[in-house]
Amino acid sequence: MSTARQKAIQAIATTEYDLNQIDFRTDHLKDLFGVLVFSEEVQKARLPKPVFKALQKTIKQGAQLTDPAVADAVASAMKDWAIEHGATHFTHLFQPMTGLTAEKHDSFLSPTGTGTAVAEFSGKELIKGEPDASSFPSGGIRATFEARGYTGWDPTSPAYIRESPNGATLVIPTVFVSWTGEALDKKTPLLRSMEALSHQALRILRLFGNQDAVKVFTTVGPEQEYFLIDKNFMYARPDLLNCGRTLFGAKPPKGQELEDQYFGTIPERVLACMAECEAEMFKLGIPVKTRHNEVAPSQYEIAPIYEDSNLATDHNQLCMDIMRRTADKYGLVCLLHEKPFAGINGSGKHNNWSMATDTGENLLNPGETPHENMQFLVFCVAVIRAVAKYPELLRVSVASAGNDHRLGANEAPPAIISIFLGEQLQDIMNQLEKGKPEKTLPGGTMELGVTVLPKLPRDAGDRNRTSPFAFTGNKFEFRAVGSSFSIAGPNTVLNTIVAESLDFIASQLEADASKGKPLNKAIQDLLPAIYKESKKILFHGDNYSDDWHKEAERRGLPNMKNTVDAIPVIIRKDTVELFSKYRVYTERELHSRYNIFAEKYAREVTIEANMMVHIAKTMILPAAVRYQGQVASAVNATKSAGVDAGAQLEHLRELTTTISKFQAVTTELDHAANHKHSGEPYTDAKTVRDTVLPKMVELRTLGDKLETMVADDLWPLPTYREMLFMK
Ligand code: ADP
Ligand code: MG
Repeated sequence: MSTARQKAIQAIATTEYDLNQIDFRTDHLKDLFGVLVFSEEVQKARLPKPVFKALQKTIKQGAQLTDPAVADAVASAMKDWAIEHGATHFTHLFQPMTGLTAEKHDSFLSPTGTGTAVAEFSGKELIKGEPDASSFPSGGIRATFEARGYTGWDPTSPAYIRESPNGATLVIPTVFVSWTGEALDKKTPLLRSMEALSHQALRILRLFGNQDAVKVFTTVGPEQEYFLIDKNFMYARPDLLNCGRTLFGAKPPKGQELEDQYFGTIPERVLACMAECEAEMFKLGIPVKTRHNEVAPSQYEIAPIYEDSNLATDHNQLCMDIMRRTADKYGLVCLLHEKPFAGINGSGKHNNWSMATDTGENLLNPGETPHENMQFLVFCVAVIRAVAKYPELLRVSVASAGNDHRLGANEAPPAIISIFLGEQLQDIMNQLEKGKPEKTLPGGTMELGVTVLPKLPRDAGDRNRTSPFAFTGNKFEFRAVGSSFSIAGPNTVLNTIVAESLDFIASQLEADASKGKPLNKAIQDLLPAIYKESKKILFHGDNYSDDWHKEAERRGLPNMKNTVDAIPVIIRKDTVELFSKYRVYTERELHSRYNIFAEKYAREVTIEANMMVHIAKTMILPAAVRYQGQVASAVNATKSAGVDAGAQLEHLRELTTTISKFQAVTTELDHAANHKHSGEPYTDAKTVRDTVLPKMVELRTLGDKLETMVADDLWPLPTYREMLFMK
């Protein structure tokens, strides 16, 4: 008899994979890129000129599409193009509050009534869909009497073809709203926040005499971390299969201590899988650029070139989907959970963020002499002010049961939000505080001590990997986002709080201008005060240290340790005022999200708790009891042979005590997880955090202890040392 674990290992050891799936000698990168996208180039080739122009004006400058004829023409061209690519169906893809994407497919087929059929797709069908989809979380917005949900075409994110075995589908990115026009999704508020920021940023640009820019985009490049492990292990681990993370698992003898995996050679099967993922991403016009091994064993990272935040969000969702599906083909499973393995680094998503005009100017680019670059200083101080004023909103934007295992642990940024500016920018801010900045610290070159090597230009400041919000040259990097997150939420918050700051600054500067004060003088009067008020958010030291926690408390910076602590911020009066003012979320939408997050938290933790009970009762206990029986027989046999069984007896005692405790805590967890819910989502979330989570921790400790005691041949669950190292 062999355990599921032994079977998994056997399968891994004997399976051969055909790793050569694509040949970049024949499929050149540049030819692959965007072939499945209804891109600008395709639009230009296929749309009547006025239609093309109108559509581009919407995409690039945010103009509204008003003429129904435009939608009809676009729909018709899209359909022909899609059918040539083998599509039989179209779908409105939306991003409900589950954080995943959702779709319902409709075929192009339309019977003529005379026994034949034609392929049809109208502007109406392109613009609006009614998927019903009433089971998605709405947090109370969709009562049964107003239950209709609609999808609406987002022309700013291009449609594309999704190929699958036996067919292809035309995918149209959409928003998802209720009959009352309230957002039921993550895309709608993101688009609203981008418009809010654009509007305020343009006011500043106009003060600087920029009359050309029509729109300011926020730009995002998300670096995505993930784990890849053999699929056979997942089949033998119900926790990985159903919860995406291991709920038991003793620390392996070798973990990540040696850091020998970081940036190491990528294993062959993994590299093959990555290459196919990238080929798929290229075809969909996703500009993925870098890949490498991460710190933890079996952990990797992929990063694209940045795009506008709407497209970057859609593309990141697609990337996660492609990674999951492609991994499967290589006998791997892609784990996107924030903390699949306790005691091993978790996964995050570094959200690189900036602002750029439609004419291509990066507003956070300091240039060679930032101290003279007043426009840069204004935008930069606006971001600092925003983060200083609304750290709790950023914190709550990355709150989830999964990310709670990461934030504040000794690996990821802490739950305390702070900013790292780097030496050069900090120096300029110090000068600014005292008046007018006069100089910029030089970067220079690095002396390598080897004559044959070319001189390397030195960056003007080093990095701080522990900072949750760091300036990295020409962008800010928000590092607290969880790996499984949709980046829509965090970016919606970031865009809105910066819009508020820009609004504040623009209002002052405009008032000064109307009184005839020169712009430079007005800026010099305004920025130092803002900086002084905001600088408590700056921290250049080690964010993981205990000292920082004390220091942050002294400074009055919020430290919301978990999701339950964080979510009440969503419905606080100042939050409601902020988001209503910039028309990003209505009060009702915020309440709905507050309920959804609370409910999601309680559900996720409860599912994990039930899974633990299940594994405890049906897998760990049976193995432990079997082993207990074996030890007991051995002790008896030894005794009856007249030999002293002292050490074995002691082992049996400890084993028995541990099993008894394990059994008792299993029952307690079972009770805690299955208490009657109040029906009020936040109350339930709190109860779950306070009564269920601690029992889970207790049970895990005991289970992991058993793993180190029970005979290896009886242990049913694949272990950390196997899952993380067998490839
Ligand atoms: P780093 O070494 O700072 O991590 P990279 O240049 O490799 O820098 O960038 C990391 C990520 O930041 C990439 O996804 C990149 O596209 C993104 N990024 C670079 N510039 C910007 C920008 N202006 N706005 C948003 N993201 C950016
Ligand atoms: Mg980075």
